[in-house]
This record gives sequence, C-alpha cells and structure tokens, in this order.
Amino acid sequence: MKVSIMSYSSSLSELLESIGAKEGSKLLVESEGRSFAGILMPHHDFSGEDIIVIKLKSGYNVGIRIGQDSAVKVLEHPEPKVKNKAPAERKEGLPNISLIATGGTIASNVEYRTGAVRPALSVSDLADSAPEMRGAANISGRALFSIFSENMNAEHWQELAAAVAEEINNGADGVVISHGTDTMGYTAAALSFMLGDVPKPVVIVGAQRSTDRPSSDAPSNLTAAVRFCVKGGKAGVFVVMHEALGDDSFAVHIGTRVRKMHTSRRDAFQSINVRPAALLDKDGNMKLTSEGRNIASGKAAARTKMERSTILLQYYPGMDPSLFENAMMKSKGIVIAGSGLGHVNEEMIRLIKKACDNGSLVVMTSQCLGGRTNLNVYKTGRDILSAGAIAVLDMLPETAYVKLMWALANADNVDEAKRLMMTPLAGEMSDRRSVDV
Ligand code: GLU
Repeated sequence: MKVSIMSYSSSLSELLESIGAKEGSKLLVESEGRSFAGILMPHHDFSGEDIIVIKLKSGYNVGIRIGQDSAVKVLEHPEPKVKNKAPAERKEGLPNISLIATGGTIASNVEYRTGAVRPALSVSDLADSAPEMRGAANISGRALFSIFSENMNAEHWQELAAAVAEEINNGADGVVISHGTDTMGYTAAALSFMLGDVPKPVVIVGAQRSTDRPSSDAPSNLTAAVRFCVKGGKAGVFVVMHEALGDDSFAVHIGTRVRKMHTSRRDAFQSINVRPAALLDKDGNMKLTSEGRNIASGKAAARTKMERSTILLQYYPGMDPSLFENAMMKSKGIVIAGSGLGHVNEEMIRLIKKACDNGSLVVMTSQCLGGRTNLNVYKTGRDILSAGAIAVLDMLPETAYVKLMWALANADNVDEAKRLMMTPLAGEMSDRRSVDV
C-alpha cells in the first residue's frame, strides 16, 4: 500500500517522495508561470487533490495547483530535531532568573496537520528562542501549564502564585512568566494581589505571533522582560510587551493597570490611567518612570484564597435585570462596568439594592476605562450609592473583578472586604490624575 505523505493524494505523495520532501522541507514550486518558495505544509482537507500547500516567509499559507508543467524541488531539508539538549551553561556573576511557562502563542508552534497554532514549546526551547536573553541572566525554568490563556481560571492563578513564591524563596532574582496574551491582564492582577509585597520582579510576557514565524515578537519580548528583571531594580508584578509595532521599544506595565487593547497588533498592550513603569529599547537601555517599590531581600508569600462566586457584568442600555437576577443573587461579589462615571439604569439599581441587602458586595467601575468613577455627580450615581454599592476610582473593571475575588476570600467580613476594595494595594487605583487624558 502506498504511504501518503502529510495527507497528500497518492500522486502528490509520490512526487514528494521522489524529491525527498518531508514535513518542514523548504520547497521551490513553479506552476502556471509563477514560483513560490516556502515550507511544505500538510494537505488541507478543503483543498483539491492536486494542490500543494506551503507556508511563505510572510507566515501565510498558499495552495498551488500542480499540473503537467509544474516543477517542485527541495531547497532545504529541515534541521533534525535535537532531543535531550544539554542545558545552557551557568555563568558566574549573572543573576538567576526563573522562567515559568504557561502556554499561549509565545510557546506555540504551528501544528502542521491543521495549520492551527497550539502551545507546544518546552521551556528550554523557549529560552533558546531568545539567545540575547540567555546572555543577560542564568535562565532556569519549568513548564507549569501548556494552555491558551482563555482557559485559565482562579485555580491556575493560585498554582502560579505559589510557584512564583517558591522560585523566589529558592533564590531566583526574578521570575518571568510566559503567558497567552488574551487574559494576561487578569493573571497579572491576580498575582499582584496574591503576592502582595513580593520582594523581586515578577514579569509576565507574551507574544502576538508564534516563534516559528519570521515576524514573531516572542524573542524580543522575552529579552526585554529579562532585562527589566535584571536592570530595573523594581519589585512587583509587571507585564512586558512591545511598545510599538517595530522590534525596538518595549513597555513595562504595572500588573494591575494593563489591558490588551487590540486583537492582533504587537503594541496591543497599554497602561490605562497611568504611564508604563518603564520603557526599554532594543539594546536594553531603560527609562524608569515609576516610583514603585525597590527590590529587597526577604521571602515571598502567596495569599491565594479566592471567592469564586464573583461576577463581572458590563452595563448596556436596556439591560434587563430579570436576566441577571439569578446570577447576582447567587454571587457574593459583583463588579459592574457601568456607563460613564459608573452608571446603570433605574431597574438595575433596584437589583443592586436587592443584591446588597442579600449580603453581596457590589462594586462599580467604568466601561470608559480612562478616568475615574464618581457616583456623587448625578442622581443616578447617588441612587447607586444609596443602594449599597461602592465605586473604585480609576480601577480597571477586570482588576476590580480579580481584586474582589481576593478581598472577599481574605477578609473576615464584607465590611473588611469593602475597606480592602477602597484601599490601593498594588498600584491599582488612584485619585490623583497621573496621565493627561
Ligand atoms: N488566545 C491565546 C492565549 O491567550 C493565544 C493568544 C496569544 O497568546 O497571544 O493564550
């Protein structure tokens, strides 16, 4: 029986076999007067039997019809995969940075069978993808999860916070966490509250393009993250990502103030209501803008309890309380991203009162993101306050959600949780305007 190569039809398999092409081979395909060079991909279920699929240098796949007059040849064979690589040598005098991998695009490869991106890289592959990072510190690491960040939940945050504390208490000078970008801001907020006054830098980093793409932002983001750990002198939880589209500037964001503001651009992450804590260029030159806490000696402790019956709702005109009553009456904590200064309609105010009377803590934030909530300006705001809700200045809705989970689980009662919500604990809120918006 004929062997099918990468799901190709028998005639294309024969052709590929005759020229020695295999998964990962770089081919030159000439057909119908055009020529294309790229990596051989598996046959796509939706393509015709006479189509060869290759991945171009740009990262895009093209299907090319192979006819009588077509020519296909191998330009390069894939490099053999080295198993059990020796760990990088430790260099005296360099700081020790722990790399904890959790998944996401930064640790992903294209799965050749489907063309989809999946988390797959080992920690040493990840570290080897950024040689400049290896030059700045001794990197050791562990893979904690291998998941896309949309699948993260409070249990993952708890496990991650405990792992970070363990790495620091075992002597790490800083911890870099590779993470999917979708929910990176939530994890950064969770670690910020769970790790409290952590004495070292904890930097979460991701990528918008996987490492096997020429345009990947993974190596440069990783390098910038390690450089900030090594040279920043600041303790706390941060997110490091591209500041601009090019590979030459990187922003260090405070973990409770950062948001993914674009689905795909490399500069998707922005600090909201504050300036980034630092900027780095491609050579590692750094401009610190935050006062922040300095690196200190001492142990890290993780307070990881979280109240899972906490919800985050976005207000919209016409929001019908009957659709949310069940959820609100079952939740100990409710964050609402209200309109403008933190408003909802009159029907929702009645439900807020019912939830507060039921013992829940209701926290108002603003879906504007920029600026502060203020429930003292309009009658609506004052009615929300009288219903029993509180407002949390310029805190991001998702940071408020994570903080509320943490505050409810770590306080003795609702009043204490309310006090924690109104007190800045990890740079998450301020009544001073620090950026001109
Ligand atoms: N949705 C995936 C995640 O957040 C991939 C996106 C990314 O890593 O940029 O893990």
